[in-house]
Amino acid sequence: MSHLFYQTRDRRPLLDHAEGIYMWDVNGKRYIDGSSGAMVSNIGHSNSRVLEAMRAQMDKSTFGYRLHFENEPAEKLAAKVAELSPKGHDKVFFVSGGSEAVESAVKLARQYAWVKGEDSRWKVISRSPSYHGATLGALALTSYAPLNAPFLPMVTDMPKVPAPRCYLDRNNSSDAECGLRYADMLRDKIIEEGPDSVLAFIMEPVGGASTGALVAPDSYYGRIRDICEEFGVLLIYDEVMTGVGRTGKFLAAEHWNINPDIIATAKGFGAGYIPLGAMTAQQHIVDVILDAGGFQHGYTYAGNPIACAAGLAVIDEIYRQGMMTNTIRSGDILLSGLRFLMDKYPFIGDIRGKGLLTAFELVSDRETMAPLKPSLNAFSQLVEIAYKRGLIIYSRRSRGGLEGDHFLVCPPMITTSEQIGNILEILDDSLAELAATLNLAG
Ligand code: PLP
Repeated sequence: MSHLFYQTRDRRPLLDHAEGIYMWDVNGKRYIDGSSGAMVSNIGHSNSRVLEAMRAQMDKSTFGYRLHFENEPAEKLAAKVAELSPKGHDKVFFVSGGSEAVESAVKLARQYAWVKGEDSRWKVISRSPSYHGATLGALALTSYAPLNAPFLPMVTDMPKVPAPRCYLDRNNSSDAECGLRYADMLRDKIIEEGPDSVLAFIMEPVGGASTGALVAPDSYYGRIRDICEEFGVLLIYDEVMTGVGRTGKFLAAEHWNINPDIIATAKGFGAGYIPLGAMTAQQHIVDVILDAGGFQHGYTYAGNPIACAAGLAVIDEIYRQGMMTNTIRSGDILLSGLRFLMDKYPFIGDIRGKGLLTAFELVSDRETMAPLKPSLNAFSQLVEIAYKRGLIIYSRRSRGGLEGDHFLVCPPMITTSEQIGNILEILDDSLAELAATLNLAG
């Protein structure tokens, strides 16, 4: 009997302690944190420098409301984030999580249009499938049927364009052509909706929960930037999952040299030590709003000194330990290991990802990419099998939340090649057990 409740009645063991990439329950069983929780614990657990930085700040002050005090960790962290962000992103707004970062980005975009006299611009186009958060505003942008369904009447229906899932297209177009074709769907959508009504386009540069580490062809990214420019539509990058090193760069936008107008980060920013997120924006956007009287938005815990001290220490550790270099190296080993498993198990239909944001997707037929029967519940079965064997991975339904099974394998950025080998061994055994349990061709 527990007084706690979350999504379901499913229970998990009590966590006892965690260190590096490992977690132990109170019964002494060890787990590899193969998904960094929900792609959060990016620098590993119990990093002593981060804990020390938090303790030192706690001894000085734990809270100062932003209308009464500024604080040094928040100032320093904002300067650091601005330094590491694309050119012009000199303004940083702190929040406590991803949904708050996305809400803040959308509200900043809207108030910017409003003060400029472009009141007709309010639609934020997003991709389908996608995940942008659970609050009602962010949910309007999220496209994942089971999460949207109960709340549809309460949420303003925002326009959607298909996520660039080239791996599902059975035509002969090249990667580059496919990327442009999907990007041009945004152009068509803006025209269909009426360009004067479109405020922004929001996208995950590498897909997260809903599309499982989806990477678009290179051609997609620049074309999207150009289309937004053409219509005066703001480009918002949701880097809540990809940001702060997870793909091997501080921001995934750097892989394609894209400078979005607004960026949302969270997850790996507080890295599981504390709730922390941020929205960064081009200075000229923020100036217009502040000149007009101020941003009508904010959260009580914004810029909390302990959270910002932790965030600073997290970034310091990422650079001090060369974690992004390791992310690229270990990510490559992981992807080639997953490809090896794909050769072994015909029911793996696709492998994808960047850095240590990687995923594989199961299918019933690789030729057609038809998903497994939804009733098999492979997306939860494999997670349970791996969990029993001491490996945590993260799964979702790939095809809009209704069918399809993908699994994110995203261990912390400190994971060594040997530890990647351990993860792949457990995955191999788990896939073999899944094949036997569900009677899949093995
Ligand atoms: N945006 C993306 C891309 C995410 O992956 C998530 C969480 O998974 C969110 C937003 C929402 O973040 P939070 O759960 O911290 O509110």
